[in-house]
Amino acid sequence: MTTRCPCLSGLPYSECCEPLHRGESVAPTAEALMRSRFSAFAVGDSHYLLSSWHPSSRPTTLELDRELRWYRLDIIDRVAGGPLDTRGEVEFEAFWRSPDARGSQRERSSFVREGGRWYYVSEA
Ligand SMILES: [Zn+2]
Repeated sequence: MTTRCPCLSGLPYSECCEPLHRGESVAPTAEALMRSRFSAFAVGDSHYLLSSWHPSSRPTTLELDRELRWYRLDIIDRVAGGPLDTRGEVEFEAFWRSPDARGSQRERSSFVREGGRWYYVSEA
């Protein structure tokens, strides 16, 4: 059985964000890291969310709201964040549903690449 990746890349989860979540590969771009973090929210992988968070801004714990279902990600804009960059920004809108409400979160996030890995830093 193949499951479509929650980031809606069109690829199966096993060929998109899952290898990143399992630590089998690293995101080549800031956008790929952003997508994998959205997918981690969708599948409830708080460990990955913390490990892809830059130590300078990483919270010590992360409590995910199990009521929220993250079902759609729109990438709105990106600046730098390529394989040869050390910084990048990605603006996105992430859509969620809960049993009694729905909404979205729009944010422009900043990322840095250190030691060959991209990390989420904060809202830009
Ligand atoms: Zn994906």
